[in-house]
Amino acid sequence: MTDAAGRRRRIGVMGGTFDPIHHGHLVAASEVRQSFQLDEVVFVPTGQPYMKRVVTSAEHRYLMTVIATASNPDFTVSRVDVDRDGPTYTIDTLRDLKRSYPDAELFFISGADAIAQILDWKDIGELWELAQFVAVSRPGHSLSISGLPPQRVSSLEVPALAISSTDCRERVGRGFPVWYLVPDGVVQYISKHHLYRSTTT
Ligand code: ATP
Ligand code: MG
Repeated sequence: MTDAAGRRRRIGVMGGTFDPIHHGHLVAASEVRQSFQLDEVVFVPTGQPYMKRVVTSAEHRYLMTVIATASNPDFTVSRVDVDRDGPTYTIDTLRDLKRSYPDAELFFISGADAIAQILDWKDIGELWELAQFVAVSRPGHSLSISGLPPQRVSSLEVPALAISSTDCRERVGRGFPVWYLVPDGVVQYISKHHLYRSTTT
């Protein structure tokens, strides 16, 4: 898949639980798109993550991701992980996306907390072959990529947004607003579907 000038397309991959998607995710994706001259960033909500608590249904998380990204022509959302049975591993995400974008270069975007775990990820050797990795800064986490292959991993400082999905869920559970932490349509979706009313959701 090449562009009009014959250049390989450059596709960002923003994986996450997105429970719910928030402005920290969106700013990270937007900054990496700009700095790495990506043609598109594909948001990929996980199925059941292999390490996390039970999360909100994949359809709710998928739809919130669609709502949050709909107005940006450079952002798309993929169902590869929500449609695959079993726990989500990044290696499967990247293999599936490689099939969808066979000739493109993939750039997997990861926050400082997630990249710190990467050596524990499944099939790490093949992961380095499937994508470049871009680690972005995140408040409360030090950004270090030492010990990772320098030709496969880059880091990028992005505007610091101290927002987490955990905090958003807890705020809704306590009756606090999440306006301006998540896109307006996501605030309304959470309210319409009574998500996060109890912190056990
Ligand atoms: P939770 O609190 O449920 O873990 P989260 O806010 O960490 O949610 P995830 O869906 O786990 O969101 O994160 C998806 C990706 O986005 C990860 O790579 C994570 O590091 C990154 N990320 C999340 N929030 C931010 C932020 N505020 N700034 C930069 N990167 C972020
Ligand atoms: Mg997280």
